[in-house]
Amino acid sequence: MKFNEELKGIKNYSAGKPIELVVREFGIKPKDVIKLASNENPYGSSPKVVEAVRNICDKMNLYPDDSMYELKDGLTKRFNIEEDNVIIGAGSDQILEFIIRAKANKNNKVLMAKTTFAIYDIYSRSVGTTILKTTSEGHNLEEFLDIYKKEKKIKIIFLCVPNNPTGECLNKNDIYEFIKKIDQDTLIVIDGAYQEFASFKDKEKELYPKDLINNFSNVIYLGTFSKVYGLGGMRVGYGISNKEIISNLTKLRPPFNITTLSLKAAIEALKDEDFIYKYLENSFKEMKRYEEFAIQNKIKFIPSYTNFITFLLKNNKNSTKISNSLLKKGIIIRDLDAYGLNAIRITIGKKEENSKFFTNFLQIYNAG
Ligand SMILES: *Cc1c(COP(=O)(O)O)cnc(C)c1O
Repeated sequence: MKFNEELKGIKNYSAGKPIELVVREFGIKPKDVIKLASNENPYGSSPKVVEAVRNICDKMNLYPDDSMYELKDGLTKRFNIEEDNVIIGAGSDQILEFIIRAKANKNNKVLMAKTTFAIYDIYSRSVGTTILKTTSEGHNLEEFLDIYKKEKKIKIIFLCVPNNPTGECLNKNDIYEFIKKIDQDTLIVIDGAYQEFASFKDKEKELYPKDLINNFSNVIYLGTFSKVYGLGGMRVGYGISNKEIISNLTKLRPPFNITTLSLKAAIEALKDEDFIYKYLENSFKEMKRYEEFAIQNKIKFIPSYTNFITFLLKNNKNSTKISNSLLKKGIIIRDLDAYGLNAIRITIGKKEENSKFFTNFLQIYNAG
């Protein structure tokens, strides 16, 4: 059977390995597996969310409220925006898909950093658009601008703030200066999957979606419930932009695109700020241990504004070998070989999980 040409160039997104796989392949008990691979909240979800979802389990026969009124209401209050400034997706991944289908095609181009979230590339390929990447590893806005000026027909620019998988983060002021130089017809996507972490660490990194959309007509801000809110398994994300952009993206949204249970979870998660605050505090406290560990063992790392840290390994150490050895010990981390880097990305876990990582990593690192 023949499929669309565009599919040929697509490599499947390599998701973090699931706990189930380690249990199956290495016979390790599920409770002994430590997953530090997908930047999930290691403390789980807020107990209030769990309780609320439990209480509506007998409503699974019903489609969710497709207007998503209550969730939008929560988001509009949280961000001080209006209901028609918001679109909800099955993860912000789905909103990225809407954006790309709405703007990119065979006759135009998109621009992104060399090493950034893989989904931008995958969805862009599926619509046959030309993908341009910077040569700088992280987000170098001067280079973005040079490429933008030189190349015609760039219709989407992706900025991952902070960036996954490196953890670096642009400053608010630099982003604003950059957007001023971009044409109205080019959509700038600000992926804020880790914004809560960045703004907790450094106020200069904090982006206000309302301020962004008040200042610029060509920006969409994306947020997710998968990271700080601890709802990765529920698949809920949101986009915030002006009414024109939101109404056009909404044309591509399938009805009932998130579930009755996901909707409830997200609504309740927004209400438990205390849970979020404690997690942020703990995560950066533990991050310090990773930094100290790296310094002690002379491992290069990228200062991170997220809930993960990236170790850049020396040439005589191999990221894939190290990741596989850790896997056999029941520790799942992310090998960044697929991104062309000899590096590993570790999600900051709970204290005891991190300690276990340090011990096991060191053994493997020193041996190989
Ligand atoms: C996790 C992540 C997302 C979104 O994930 P969803 O679970 O689909 O909401 C988006 N962008 C980046 C950079 C991420 O790391």
